[in-house]
Amino acid sequence: MRAARSMNGLRRDVALANRIIERFGLSGAFGHVSARIPGTDRFYFPTRRSPGLASAGELLVLDTEGKILSGKGTPNSELWIHARLYAARPDVGGVVHAHPPASICLTQIGQPHRVVHNQGGAFHAGVPEFERISLIRTRELGDLLARKLGAGLAVMMRGHGITTALPDVRAATVAACMLEESAGMQLRMLAAAGGDPARIRVYTREEAESMGDQVGPRVVERAWEYYSIAAEARPLGR
Ligand SMILES: [Zn+2]
Repeated sequence: MRAARSMNGLRRDVALANRIIERFGLSGAFGHVSARIPGTDRFYFPTRRSPGLASAGELLVLDTEGKILSGKGTPNSELWIHARLYAARPDVGGVVHAHPPASICLTQIGQPHRVVHNQGGAFHAGVPEFERISLIRTRELGDLLARKLGAGLAVMMRGHGITTALPDVRAATVAACMLEESAGMQLRMLAAAGGDPARIRVYTREEAESMGDQVGPRVVERAWEYYSIAAEARPLGR
């Protein structure tokens, strides 16, 4: 999928992915999505604005050492999330960092993400939590976050947000939306259950694994079509 996409197409996807996370409530003024330039240690990254204002023509090219190689403007200060994840994970082609409210709420009530509906099955292997609340503004913190993510798809960041890392920017974006949707449902279930997590019918390991293909190519393409058309139809400011 990624190999077939032109560089201009990849730039468009990155800009669109940024607008999607803003339009779907994962981020407001802050948050960012990037994509690796295939086969390199470089990636497309937006300038320091709301992700809802990202455009393909204004993307920067950075490398895994945090160096700006081309483009005009200042990068988002948490560039180190992206730089060090691409350095640590050659399999990763897209990274989303957002500040979505339901996921943040889960971290602050000490509840790990649980699979409580079908689309949460993508995260059946568990979502680790990065406990430090600081913004990831140094190479060292980027490396620590990458270590916490390990080989996984996503990491919760306490009081701060989430980061997803998948082979493709579209998949990383869909995964971020699904994780926030799942966290939102878990919170609603907890509230309906009087705050008692034992009353939630969390999926068994087998049930969760059986729904594990929620970020596979077929699901991602269908979800991406919906998210992208919806985001384009309601751009920020209109
Ligand atoms: Zn952040």
